[in-house]
Amino acid sequence: MKIQEADAKSLLLAQGLPVPAWEVARTTVEVRAAAERTMAAGATQVVIKAQVLVGGRGKAGGVKLAASADEAEAVASTILGMEIKGIRVRKVLVAAAADIVKEYYLSAVLDRSARRILLMGSADGGVEIEQVAVETPEAITRLHADPYLGLLDHQARRLAFALELGGHWKAGAAIAKGLVRTMLAYDADLVEINPLAVVREQDGAATSGSRERLVCLDAKVTLDDSALVRHPDLEALRDSDEEDPADREAREAGISFIKLDGTIGCMVNGAGLAMTTMDLVKRAGGDPANFLDLGGGARADKRAAAMRLILADPKVEAILVNIFGGITRGDEVAHGLIEARSRQTRDVPMIVRIVGTNAEEAGRLLREASFETAASLDEAATKAVAAARGATA
Ligand code: GDP
Ligand code: MN
Repeated sequence: MKIQEADAKSLLLAQGLPVPAWEVARTTVEVRAAAERTMAAGATQVVIKAQVLVGGRGKAGGVKLAASADEAEAVASTILGMEIKGIRVRKVLVAAAADIVKEYYLSAVLDRSARRILLMGSADGGVEIEQVAVETPEAITRLHADPYLGLLDHQARRLAFALELGGHWKAGAAIAKGLVRTMLAYDADLVEINPLAVVREQDGAATSGSRERLVCLDAKVTLDDSALVRHPDLEALRDSDEEDPADREAREAGISFIKLDGTIGCMVNGAGLAMTTMDLVKRAGGDPANFLDLGGGARADKRAAAMRLILADPKVEAILVNIFGGITRGDEVAHGLIEARSRQTRDVPMIVRIVGTNAEEAGRLLREASFETAASLDEAATKAVAAARGATA
């Protein structure tokens, strides 16, 4: 689950990381008020940042500075309502504009194949790290943290020195350790600070001028969906404004659904069986349109939701239903499918394989309703691929 920058910053703050204060505003009037408060607290400029779950907001014109409350309001009117990568901006973050000395990149990501947390740091921050990775990969320092030990002191120091933070190395090492703590505390699979920045702070009344500080200016955190059960409080950070409608329907129905690029919709009970079904579709020369696991004891409403999800994809040319009846009774599934098809807006060939409890009864019902049935999964896959070819030909 992706969360907004402002929420990501709250998590970082809770882990003791240095994040400049901010407010979130949803209207130009709220932005003006936030800007007034921020400037009353000593800021000479404010930064207004679109809160959307995509990167590259700066380039898209979603990050702007303003030198007065009037200007903040005007800038907000251009950002609120704009679209960034197809997503409408409904809220912005307002903060004192940082006086940036230099930008760095620092991130922690779950490296499944290494079973470690991978830390990446670069003195080339602010820009797109993907570009750095391609053009000057040596400019990125990588190291792995053990999930049980966290980031060790010597590793944190190594990263800080690689970033050439100079006098800020201690702060840098502490932030690197904080990133790993954040990963572990919330079961995040990504914590990215781009830019991590050395900023000049005005010393208020002091005549000595300014001092510098290392802060997290931007924050991107994604949480492991499978671990959210352990963090019921984090569920509140889900931004349903931006959730894909299909993902939402699947989540609310309790279905595991992942959209793919092929033409054969798959409706299966059991994750392992769903994987096998996809493999056999591939082997028969087709391409699955989705991964779909109804879960155990799938009831009629779940199956109807699954059918809607599959048919919502215009690329789907055939549907392969593969049900292993244990607790789920085959005849009940058959009745459900017959009813679902009668309400279906698009006529897509359906190939059904049901085995297990009441399978014979299911087969009889389906054949009577002139459904295509299959006795084996191989046969079902072959028929589904042929049906999809027939539809496209
Ligand atoms: P992103 O484009 O979505 O990654 O958004 P960022 O928060 O990283 O902002 C993009 C760029 O805007 C940063 O790399 C900075 O150069 C600039 N920026 C962001 N916040 C401030 C700020 O407070 N002051 C100044 N001067 N520039 C900022
Ligand atoms: Mn950024």
